[in-house]
Amino acid sequence: MQTTSAIEEALDKQPTLTRHFMTLARETRLSHAYLFSGMTGCGKKALALSVAMRLFCETPTVDGLPCGHCAECRRILAGDNPDVVVEAPEGQRIKVDQVRHIKDEFSKSAVEGKTKIFIIEGAETLTPNAANGLLKFIEEPADNRVIFLLTTNKSLILPTIISRAQLVEFSPLAPKAFQEVLTGAGISANQAALIGALTNSVEDATAMTEDDWVARVQAEVGRWYTQLVKGDATAFVTVQTGLMPLASDRSRQAILLDVVVILWQETLNLKYLDNQTIAFPKLRDVMVQTASQVDEVTLLRLVETALQTKSALASNMNFQNIIETMTLAGLDLLK
Ligand SMILES: [Zn+2]
Repeated sequence: MQTTSAIEEALDKQPTLTRHFMTLARETRLSHAYLFSGMTGCGKKALALSVAMRLFCETPTVDGLPCGHCAECRRILAGDNPDVVVEAPEGQRIKVDQVRHIKDEFSKSAVEGKTKIFIIEGAETLTPNAANGLLKFIEEPADNRVIFLLTTNKSLILPTIISRAQLVEFSPLAPKAFQEVLTGAGISANQAALIGALTNSVEDATAMTEDDWVARVQAEVGRWYTQLVKGDATAFVTVQTGLMPLASDRSRQAILLDVVVILWQETLNLKYLDNQTIAFPKLRDVMVQTASQVDEVTLLRLVETALQTKSALASNMNFQNIIETMTLAGLDLLK
């Protein structure tokens, strides 16, 4: 995360929550403990840091936001404010000495007499012992202490913690913000385009990019599509040599079929909208040409054929059969 832009990131990803929390901070109506729950990259830490900045900022904007530039804002962004304690898992867990550090800080009052802020990322990685150790601080609200527990998986948080903190559910990201998170994580814009059409979860996205899977899917499905629209029966060879190796398990098979559905839907859309987002940037020319040459009824039938594969897969039909049947139907429709 670009911490220099924590407030921009919070506003970009969670505009409503950010405005809400800025108001709470301005009116000193913050609760003593929050549990921020939401997927990786949805802006939990950015919002928690923004609240801290808002409480310390010397020159808030007329909109009631932290300026992001004053000495106090910069200290927080640099991790240099002793009253803003941030801990994140080292490796798989928040370690014992980190928990000790948090407890020590809990028992100290604010160095500069103002509020003391705790931001604990990956709260689900606290051991039950460690979580219980923190519980008494969460139970005893202190006037000038605000605790933010951040988690991607609230089902792993002790119920005793959940019941004492205010739960805030973060919504998934809007498509544009999500694609920025993906490209920020080093995923190419080309792959991010397709991933963004398939999921809104960074975890799912990361799983899809393992072994270059998404890039290979784009290449092989693209090859299959190009052959199909030319009426070229070697599309069956591509099923065997290109698509089948990508369909290693049920979940990847399901995603592969989603990819085909998206491909036909986008082709159909291209008939009427020429600048819509495209999940297959490198296939654009072929798709535009197909949209202009194939009539609407046929394109609709191709979308339907692809959609039907989803229920075939759900009823446990053999994947190769499903995709060969779809290929045959496609060649027949595009004759
Ligand atoms: Zn400031």
